Amino acid sequence: MKIICIGRNYAEHAKEMNAPVPSEPVFFLKPDTALIKDNQPFYYPDFSKDIHHEVELILKISKAGKNIQPEFAHKYYNEIGIGIDFTARDLQAKCKEKGLPWEKAKAFDGSAPVGNFISKEELKNGEINFHLNLNGTEVQRGNTKDLLFSFDFVIAYVSKFFTLKTGDLIFTGTPEGVGPVKIGDRLEAFIENKSCLNFEIK
Ligand code: MG
Repeated sequence: MKIICIGRNYAEHAKEMNAPVPSEPVFFLKPDTALIKDNQPFYYPDFSKDIHHEVELILKISKAGKNIQPEFAHKYYNEIGIGIDFTARDLQAKCKEKGLPWEKAKAFDGSAPVGNFISKEELKNGEINFHLNLNGTEVQRGNTKDLLFSFDFVIAYVSKFFTLKTGDLIFTGTPEGVGPVKIGDRLEAFIENKSCLNFEIK
């Protein structure tokens, strides 16, 4: 399986990163070794001193497809989850400065904790609220009404370049409020008011 992550899909997050709002989706990949499941802890890596949380809704692809048309994209996912796109912000800044690829900063082991998935039908049509608590205090909140590129548009766009396969995950971008984590912190992520992910930084 592969993990596809959309960057800068919320205008307020692009703004806080001093990055332009993109005119088409920006995306990158993480390998399966980035996955953390079942609320297992995240171990702070020794190559970074500035790991940031980015809470994101995740689409789980339910059937294979390529060149999917936007009007059919909803048929390619049945479940929505939530996860963290952990980012080594210090390494990312260096990569950006030199115009180098981001993988070191984005795709390292454990950089993609993923929580429980909820069936699409369980969520109200249209807007989905989600948020992240750091040690019990809310630090990020998003709503899909603020997406620059909708779920269906993202699936259509990505599938032009990569065949999507059952079980692939698409991280759909983070809202504003990204920030650092440290050893001993606890992150808990919610879809609507349902806790779907809850783990510790070790
Ligand atoms: Mg992200």
